[in-house]
Amino acid sequence: MNYKFYITTLGCPKNEADSREMEISLLKKGLVKSSSLQDAHFHIINTCSFIEEAKKETIDVIFEAHQFRKKNKDQKLIVAGCFSERYKKQMKEIPEIDFHFGTGLYHRAGDLIIEHFQIPKQNIETTEFYSNIIKKNKFYAPIKISDGCNRNCSFCAIPIFRGKFQSREIEDIVNETKNLTNRGIKEILLVSQDSNSFAGGDISKFIELLERLEELENLYWLRLLYLYPDQRTKKIINEISKKKFKKLVPYLESPVQHVSEKILKSMNRTGNYDFFKELFIMARELIPELEIRTTFLIGFPEETSEDIDLILQFLNEVPVEHIHFFAYSREEGTKSYSRKKQIPQKEILNRLNLIQEEYKNIQRRIMSEKLGKIYKCILEKVSPEELYFRRPQSAPEIDDMVIVPYSIKSLKSENKSIPRPGEFYDVELKDILIYDYIGKLQNLY
Ligand code: SF4
Repeated sequence: MNYKFYITTLGCPKNEADSREMEISLLKKGLVKSSSLQDAHFHIINTCSFIEEAKKETIDVIFEAHQFRKKNKDQKLIVAGCFSERYKKQMKEIPEIDFHFGTGLYHRAGDLIIEHFQIPKQNIETTEFYSNIIKKNKFYAPIKISDGCNRNCSFCAIPIFRGKFQSREIEDIVNETKNLTNRGIKEILLVSQDSNSFAGGDISKFIELLERLEELENLYWLRLLYLYPDQRTKKIINEISKKKFKKLVPYLESPVQHVSEKILKSMNRTGNYDFFKELFIMARELIPELEIRTTFLIGFPEETSEDIDLILQFLNEVPVEHIHFFAYSREEGTKSYSRKKQIPQKEILNRLNLIQEEYKNIQRRIMSEKLGKIYKCILEKVSPEELYFRRPQSAPEIDDMVIVPYSIKSLKSENKSIPRPGEFYDVELKDILIYDYIGKLQNLY
């Protein structure tokens, strides 16, 4: 009998990389990937536990999955990853869950499930699994370069359930990239909780990794995510600019979380207004066409309206193309949980709205300045009347797209070829559509 599995992935791109590790482990043990949840014997939910909102989503998905399987009574519900690691004890008390395991065990998912449910074991050794796990018409994949984090930011629960920082070997990362890019993946996102601590913070090793990846024939775009905004990131940017990498996209993701030094200290983070300003200006000078993504955590205990004004001042002074503003979430087990002077939730949301509204205007101004420019974009999706492109300066799923209206009929009548997803095209930015662009395809033959 072929036992089938189906994985639901919640949370960030790191979880996507972990789900892929689970899939490989399950396929190696002879389980079969199901294309529909209905037919699966095992429904594995890879969970998120980052903040309150993510935990709520996880719980909702678990109960929805339990409701759904009433149509398939033999289906087993397995909960894996961050949520089950963080709430190990509570997991045992949820009768809807048949089995659970935490972080750090993704590569053993196959063995764990086989042993727990006592199903026959097989050992299949081939890299052809990769063809199986790449989704049709998806041209990017996250690859983890490390796991865990030693930074201990006072608001963050991640080290509690992801553990201590651990780098992967360069060889393993290169092999995984090869396996994916040789089967149609064009863009790799290097993900981690703390990328600049890779190889114990040895910058030469980090650059060596980028050089090794740059050599891979079938890799087109390489994107670095989560560079902690400190001196090491400054040095990394310097090194990158000297090397003139061709595949590394001009994109810096560096979450500052705040610009008030008092709040940053209280968050147990480094940096301040001037340092972040200098870092971003330097990065733009050294890397042509660079765009920046950062995050701000709003409503940390003791934050005052002056601290919010400082963020607004920063946003007006330092152009940042892509920003995510998070509401502070009081997480058990973190240092800031017991801080006095917690900000009431209503006030946090007021501050969040104020900042988001202000940033909307700034973002629109930044976007308007790009109109008329031509970018080599990847075509991600084709609908009957629109083509959806993405610029190298935009990360998948979170940043802007460039939408080009088109008609197959007129392309055919002009004897032009139909654009193909996964291919690269020159697109001019013509207009703004809320957070996306409207574009015009150049030189289609
Ligand atoms: S750097 Fe700070 S916010 Fe990021 S994962 Fe580590 S502890 Fe959490």
